[in-house]
Amino acid sequence: LDSLQMKPSIDSKLPDLDTSIFAVMSHLAHTTGALNLAQGFPSFDPPQALTERVHHHLTHGGNQYAPMPGVSGLRRIIAEKTRRLQHRDINVDTEVTVCTGATEGLFSAIQAVVRPGDEVILVDPAYDSYEPAVRLAGGVARHVPLKLVDDTHDFTVDWQRLQDTMTAATRLIILNFPHNPTGTILSAVDLDTLADIVRGSGCLLLSDEVYEHIIFDGQAHMSLLRHDELWERSLVVSSFGKTLHATGWKLGYCIAPEPLSAEFRKVHQFTTFSVSTPMQLGVADFLQSHPDYYDQLPAFYEQKRDLFCELLADSRFRFKPAQSTFFQVLDYGEITDEDDLSLAKRWTREAGVGSIPLSVFCEQAFTGSRLRFCFAKDDATLEQAADKLCRL
Ligand code: PMP
Ligand code: GLN
Repeated sequence: LDSLQMKPSIDSKLPDLDTSIFAVMSHLAHTTGALNLAQGFPSFDPPQALTERVHHHLTHGGNQYAPMPGVSGLRRIIAEKTRRLQHRDINVDTEVTVCTGATEGLFSAIQAVVRPGDEVILVDPAYDSYEPAVRLAGGVARHVPLKLVDDTHDFTVDWQRLQDTMTAATRLIILNFPHNPTGTILSAVDLDTLADIVRGSGCLLLSDEVYEHIIFDGQAHMSLLRHDELWERSLVVSSFGKTLHATGWKLGYCIAPEPLSAEFRKVHQFTTFSVSTPMQLGVADFLQSHPDYYDQLPAFYEQKRDLFCELLADSRFRFKPAQSTFFQVLDYGEITDEDDLSLAKRWTREAGVGSIPLSVFCEQAFTGSRLRFCFAKDDATLEQAADKLCRL
């Protein structure tokens, strides 16, 4: 009888989790009318030739379920690009899966491989979707901060500390290079160092490479896909959101060797089953007819980075131009000693420019007086934002 009188209890599985900082800051920017340089999304539309192809499929029968792993034309194009840019031959049928944005790819990958009690290494600042997914799988996150050289504003990977954090229980290391928010990228030497660290262990790698095509100053993206030893134990997740100026389409993909892709698909098929058909068909058509689309992206965003940095040259912010991504980190230490979270909110309200604090992505704050600003905006918006920031 007692059990009949019991009230349902919401015994939260993630009791300490707040709403994502991106939702919080975008909402604040929206309600205060501030320029939203917080959440990372472009202020411009995808190429017209792309939206025309999506429209074509919306009006020509492309509206029913796509195959569970993704439409074959899109998987083929992803495979061709992977061969051309990362020199890795992947099997179109068994080693690439189209997913609902990188977020679903990351979530499905984590659920597929992490068991209760497994340890998962994250590099701080760590994108906010990783740890909740690890915890829902029963895993335990171990945080390894990037190394910050304060005078140069450089954030580098502390491979020694990462190695020291590994135990027999380490199941997965999650990496994100090009790195959001710092723009840090990996070199070929970094890949070899990582291979030395994981060699002989059962540890898998999950590489979030959503900024793979936004990398500056003539540098190349060193995907884990390039490295024969790393490839065997890697799931590499990426997104068309950043690349095609279409973050709202939530179109991503996961590349992994066949045995790992098979496990990934077991989760993917019951997380979402398949991804929006007209979007996949439209993107496949567009990339088929514009195979060099990717090649102009670095220059496109490098011009925006340079403009934003030049406009801030006489401000009181200290910074080093980002090496990748569409984010610029600015050190406000000469302006105020306020903490980054309250300052980001206050400046959204009072200065009219939204930004993202770095400390929220860290288990233990170490990023000091730094905020992240998104420069994927039209030049007029960047000029207005810089004008406001220069007054601070
Ligand atoms: N990882 C990182 C590092 C990101 O910055 C983002 C946001 N764009 C994502 C994953 C999520 O990508 P998507 O919007 O395709 O889910
Ligand atoms: N990846 C985007 C950023 O870093 C935000 C994505 C989201 O809002 N969840 O700003």
